[in-house]
Amino acid sequence: MTRHSEGPDPRAHASSRHHSEPAAIVPRQPTGARRSRTMRRHPVVYASVSEPCGTRSRWLVVTSACPACGGRHVHYAAALAAAGGARRAGCGRGIYWIAVARVYRGVLGIEDAA
Ligand SMILES: [Zn+2]
Repeated sequence: MTRHSEGPDPRAHASSRHHSEPAAIVPRQPTGARRSRTMRRHPVVYASVSEPCGTRSRWLVVTSACPACGGRHVHYAAALAAAGGARRAGCGRGIYWIAVARVYRGVLGIEDAA
């Protein structure tokens, strides 16, 4: 049994690659909008933050005019990094997002100033 395969195999040409692959790039879906939990969906209130001083061991956060009642509220934070963010309004009328606008430091004076 003799096989003559002189002619070109038609399957060899069929496997040649082309750059015309359809649907290779998946388009972005606009419906997949990311929802971040850190999104500021609360009204922003600016606050001044003061370093711990005297018997106060926590950071003092004094807000500007509350978006709910117009007054200024006082909060405390264990660290400066925790001063900002969502908090319940001091008047209890909702939640606002505290944005640290000003930081006061250097009152304690315990640090070794060598
Ligand atoms: Zn308020």
